[in-house]
Amino acid sequence: MSENKEQEVIDIKDDTLEETNAENDFNLDNNNENECQTTKSNGSEKGFTVFGYKMSQIKWGNVVFLTVMHILAAYGYYHCIVVDIKALTVTFIYIISCASGLGILVGSHRLWAHRSFKARWPLKVILMILQTMTVNGSIFSYVRDHRTHHKWSDSVADPKNSTRGFFFAHMGWWLVKKDPKVIQFGKKLSYDDLWNDPIVRFQHRFYTPLAIIFCFILPTLTPLLWSEDLLTAFVSCVGIRAVVVLHHMWTVNSIAHIFGYRIYDKDLRPTENKLVVYMSMGEGSHNYHHAFPYDYTTSYYKWYESYNLATVFIVISSLLGLAYDMKKPTNETIKQYVEKKGDIIEVNLIHKKHILIRLIIGLWDWIMGSIVTSWPIWTIMLIKIALGKQFFFFEWNDIIFAKYFCS
Ligand SMILES: [Zn+2]
Ligand SMILES: [Zn+2]
Repeated sequence: MSENKEQEVIDIKDDTLEETNAENDFNLDNNNENECQTTKSNGSEKGFTVFGYKMSQIKWGNVVFLTVMHILAAYGYYHCIVVDIKALTVTFIYIISCASGLGILVGSHRLWAHRSFKARWPLKVILMILQTMTVNGSIFSYVRDHRTHHKWSDSVADPKNSTRGFFFAHMGWWLVKKDPKVIQFGKKLSYDDLWNDPIVRFQHRFYTPLAIIFCFILPTLTPLLWSEDLLTAFVSCVGIRAVVVLHHMWTVNSIAHIFGYRIYDKDLRPTENKLVVYMSMGEGSHNYHHAFPYDYTTSYYKWYESYNLATVFIVISSLLGLAYDMKKPTNETIKQYVEKKGDIIEVNLIHKKHILIRLIIGLWDWIMGSIVTSWPIWTIMLIKIALGKQFFFFEWNDIIFAKYFCS
């Protein structure tokens, strides 16, 4: 990819809706072409409506899928309280929750959508599998929507347009067909880099079977290795895990586009929001991210100054030689930008703290982030204690392989 083309991909940000001649002649998303207008009925139209949307405007497949997943998660939460659950299963849930979340954050977001760093193929394969575990759509569909979101943020052409309300920005946009403007303007962007990536093409082509394997089958079967009950494994490692991860990630589009402060670019609707930093493992500095979308850390701060598991993952990957060419604006670039568009006094006040203060804030951030990220586990534990139940137990004999070694 040429330098100009690459810059175009990583630096998409434009708040105009001007027509351009650039058109893409590819579109693997079959649903896209056939989608009809989703703008709410104006009341004068005849026919049954749900929350103002005509029946034909609703994506019924997604409504049914998300409803079933939420019922599964709610039942899973109750189930894990009333039955004995093994410590290894709980540990496994926490690890795959964080890991699959990183599939979105590091993979489909920072690597494929923004090209903020480069990755060698083993890391790409790992990120593709982790991203598939989240059932957050294929990498291609995520990147298509996300680049459109950045380019025409919070306008009628933004698929996650937060001016249509909190629920729409959070998950409602999954449930109704896209506004024609989203499709029309989304086609103006380039996705050549995605189609030139065999891993992205493979995942998009075989998305459904891959999602069934990596989101549903493997997370359910793995806990059987330490003799976990099949139903417990399914409802906790699939139901609770998948739904919680999706909601945590969706807060970036909802909370971080509505609540918080805007210091890097006052003209942008995205905000700086600490709760979202904690819930999304480091993506809540969203005003900064929309101002500097090519920054691989999505934040001004270094990993030890703010909770940012995704950045730590990229840094470790680079130490292992799997990630390289990480992009970050210089302090001078940020300063010049903020002087024009943001609040330089406020930014200086926040950034120019003594290193010791920044480290203490960073430590506090990591503690808070870890607590928020793991809330389903510790709340189940607290309820079990309150009910006088045994929680999370461990026995060597439960581990299938241990039986062979011990006998
Ligand atoms: Zn955004
Ligand atoms: Zn982004």
